Amino acid sequence: MTPLELLKKQYEHTTHEIDVLKTQQKDILRELRSVCTHLRLGEYRQPRPWRICLDCGAEEESWSFESLQMRRESQRKDGPERGLVEIFHGSHELCQQRKAGERYLVGASAR
Ligand SMILES: [Zn+2]
Repeated sequence: MTPLELLKKQYEHTTHEIDVLKTQQKDILRELRSVCTHLRLGEYRQPRPWRICLDCGAEEESWSFESLQMRRESQRKDGPERGLVEIFHGSHELCQQRKAGERYLVGASAR
């Protein structure tokens, strides 16, 4: 096998491995999102409330804080507390918290 053939073969093998890992990543993210209750939130406030779950990347944006479903308080009184962990100063900081693949919109953004 020539050096060129060897490199082509290594490239094809690596490309295949990346595809396998991307599929695994997608499956794991789907499972993570099915169990996550969005307790650790990041928020960007301008021009309107925009929150993201720091664990699974679920996003919600609305015209008012009152209409957001990912609120600070827990839905159940005996449930774990939901809280704002980070306040972002730019939308790019929030976007950095997104996970791979399509945006995952919840609450007011999913309607
Ligand atoms: Zn979440």
